[in-house]
Amino acid sequence: MIRANNPNLSSWIDVESGSDFPIQNIPFGVFSTAESSPRVGTAIGEYVLDLSALAELGYFDELEFDIGVFKSDSLNAYMASGQSTWRSVRDRISQVLASENSTLRDNATDREKVLIPMSMATLHLPVDIRDYTDFYSSIEHATNVGTMFRDPDNALLPNWKHLPVGYHGRASSIVVSGVNINRPKGQTKADDADTPSFGPSRLLDFELELGFFTGRNNPLGQSISTGDAEDYIFGMVLFNDWSARDIQKWEYVPLGPFLGKSFASSISPWVVTLDALDPFRVSGPDQDPEVLPYLQYDGEHNFDIALEVQIQPEGGDASTVCNSNFKFMYWNMAQQLAHHTINGCNIDVGDLYASGTVSGHTPDSYGSMLELAWKGTKPLTLKDGSERKFILDGDTVIMKGHAEKDGVRIGFGEVRSKVLPPL
Ligand code: CA
Repeated sequence: MIRANNPNLSSWIDVESGSDFPIQNIPFGVFSTAESSPRVGTAIGEYVLDLSALAELGYFDELEFDIGVFKSDSLNAYMASGQSTWRSVRDRISQVLASENSTLRDNATDREKVLIPMSMATLHLPVDIRDYTDFYSSIEHATNVGTMFRDPDNALLPNWKHLPVGYHGRASSIVVSGVNINRPKGQTKADDADTPSFGPSRLLDFELELGFFTGRNNPLGQSISTGDAEDYIFGMVLFNDWSARDIQKWEYVPLGPFLGKSFASSISPWVVTLDALDPFRVSGPDQDPEVLPYLQYDGEHNFDIALEVQIQPEGGDASTVCNSNFKFMYWNMAQQLAHHTINGCNIDVGDLYASGTVSGHTPDSYGSMLELAWKGTKPLTLKDGSERKFILDGDTVIMKGHAEKDGVRIGFGEVRSKVLPPL
């Protein structure tokens, strides 16, 4: 077991039960306050721990890495310091926060410098995202979409069970939780129209996903095996891959999604490390037919992470519209990375890879409005009595996620974004 994951650990900082950020989590993010510029921190209970200030006070002195990586407005430099540093730093933070460790606990001057109530911190996009790839790895989601738009008897295309289908997305428009999204405009064409028209998207949707960041690069021309893939993965965030279904439908043939996807994607601010998620590994589904050797893997690479989506209308209460789980994914992250690099494509520190919409088996576990309201034929009713086929202006979409076992809850916080009218 990774020492920092021990369920018996507790912190001298009061962490309420049900908090996403107990001492076993130690996620990484970038924050600023009224007094300080953006820098790297971690979350513990209702506090942000300033890792840059902690480092300057000497708390990492026995570790061999450049503490300057924390005085940065992104996690990229820290991620580039490598997996052994990620592990020793997380372990050291765990020690400093542990109930029995008096060093920081009993030093009021130091505590004042490093602990900030989360309500006083502004959380920023945690990573300078270099490249973004979107996979399509939920068999339930791919089956639902294939059933709706093609043939219920042949919902999956012939390639789907042989490779993790993906496409190259747009990194520049990825924003952090709290940033509002303007409804995109574009070309659409009604089924009964001869020519396309231009205007605001009428079928704006969310996609419930998780994304992972790589913190290590590989040279151009070299691939990464499924066995090595997780050594490249720093951690994960919640990912809302905003989608304009009407724009997407008209534009996507033959080269795939473009402007219907590239206007925005939203991520949660705290990157939960793969190490913190280690206790929540589960077996993936049987893959039949057998996949090619470069996609075969040993061990457990699926993760039991409960996911939830809420819609909050302007001035109203939030209604839960979806409960899903990341454990349902057909293709795991190790396979995704192995496939991504099998042609020699190099990956970089700060690249983001999204899972694809995470849908479960039941209609209330579908990860998009397209599926939940089944192409607009089964509108959802929210708490205020209003109906939704897709997302309306003024709606706030909130996604949450957490893993829980042995009394330990490792949470992602949330990704929350409000849809504004088109500009
Ligand atoms: Ca997607």
